[in-house]
Parts: sequence; C-alpha cells; structure tokens
Amino acid sequence: MDMNIGYGSLGGPNIIIRELTRDRINFILSDTDLSVANSLRRVMIAEVPTVAIDMVEIETNTTVLADEFLAHRLGMVPIDSRDVEKLRYTRDCTCSQYCPECSVEMTLHVKCTEERTTEVTSRSLVSSNPSFVPVVQDKNDAGILLVKLRKGHELKLKCIAKKGVAKEHAKWSPVSGVAFEYDPYNKLRHTQYWFEESMNEW
Ligand SMILES: [Zn+2]
Repeated sequence: MDMNIGYGSLGGPNIIIRELTRDRINFILSDTDLSVANSLRRVMIAEVPTVAIDMVEIETNTTVLADEFLAHRLGMVPIDSRDVEKLRYTRDCTCSQYCPECSVEMTLHVKCTEERTTEVTSRSLVSSNPSFVPVVQDKNDAGILLVKLRKGHELKLKCIAKKGVAKEHAKWSPVSGVAFEYDPYNKLRHTQYWFEESMNEW
C-alpha cells in the first residue's frame, strides 16, 4: 500500500509511505534536499519527547546486580509514550522534584522463593498511570529481561519516569534505528539496521 502525502505536483517535498506498522515506518522522501532528509533523521533520534525512567529508589536488592547497574537497565526500558503531551517537563512544573503532572511512578517487587531461577522483566514493573506502561508487543511478549533471581534473592524498588528528549540522554530516544539512503529500494544494501537477536540468552 503506497500513500501519497504532500504537494508533489506543486514541486514541494513529497512523501510516499511504503510500510507503516506499530513500530516501523518506511517512506520515500523526494523533491527536497538531502539536508531536509538529514534534519528529519536527527529530529527523530534526538528531539521527539518520550517518557523514560529517570530516578530509581532501591529499597531491597539482594540480586547479583549492583544498584546502579539495575538503575541503568531500568532507564533503557521503553515506555509507551503516545500520551506524552499530557505530561509536563519537570523543569516547567511547579513542583520541586516530581509530581503526577510531570512524572509517572512505577514500582517493582519480586522475590524468588522457588528452587528454579525467577526472571525479572519489564513486565514486573507496575505503573501508577495506565497511559504510561512498559512497551510489550503482544500478550506473548515476555518483556525485557532485567535480572535473574536465585532462591532467596529479592528486588524491591520505586521508579520515577519523566518526560525528556534524547539530546539529554539516549534513553529518551523514541527510535532504535533511523537511517536514510539515496537508493530508496536499498538495492545496494548500504543501509543495515542493528537488531537484537534474542533477549533471553544471557
Ligand atoms: Zn511536577
């Protein structure tokens, strides 16, 4: 399905969307300069606001991973940001640190009481706001692995997710890959995306 958007007949920029799914868009931009294509790429990477975990208060951590390692992994968890416009940036908010107007609280509490290993994933995060929850592809998606627990290990923490842009920290980038190519059908195979083969093999 090809869709035409723009003013191609008038000589302006023209976009043909070749593929559009929940997490991927592929389009041809024409009748414009390379600088416009590159500007779009840069805006997509660094200037589209999203929500990401920004503060982590760890209450109990008897897992094998250090607190700061877990906080970093939590920051990288993608959070559904379709309603990001409903949130304020903390810097524009009247509160001193965070409040429901500018942040989303998430909690996580997992304890392993069985002999077999328990996997703590992004699905273990409980959000206080149903508009902002960790991204899952479908009901079969196990979520992103954060840490594995052996018997007796416990992890209990509170996260504060905030609105931000990737110019400040890459965790706020809404994309995992953006590329453009002179050769729109990629016949020369110059464009290659990195992708993760499997999340649960370490
Ligand atoms: Zn606030």
